[in-house]
Amino acid sequence: MSYVSNVVKGTCPNCNKTKVFASNGNPLLFKMPKMKMKCDNCGYSFHRETGFYFGAMYMSYALTVAEMVAVFVLGLLFGWSFMTMFILVVITILLLSTFNYKISRLMWLNLFYDKDEQE
Ligand SMILES: [Zn+2]
Repeated sequence: MSYVSNVVKGTCPNCNKTKVFASNGNPLLFKMPKMKMKCDNCGYSFHRETGFYFGAMYMSYALTVAEMVAVFVLGLLFGWSFMTMFILVVITILLLSTFNYKISRLMWLNLFYDKDEQE
């Protein structure tokens, strides 16, 4: 349960006190979320190693595909035209891009968190 709550709240996997991201970003202003280097409270490093978040890209891809399928299914239910569905899918993935970026990195960070690991 801690995994899900840490990902949803966006807090440090080690102490659950501070936020992992310093800013939320804004897809309308083309601003990506900014991640802190380490936890302000316990000093846990959010940048584990070079290329650590490469795998988060696959999680982001999976989330994006799920969102696209969800919009497509809505389109089928409401009988939208193919062009309407296409435009709404593009708008949806653009608006959710910063959300996907954040949530995939939080999922990846929490997935590889080991509480017994000593630094
Ligand atoms: Zn912490």
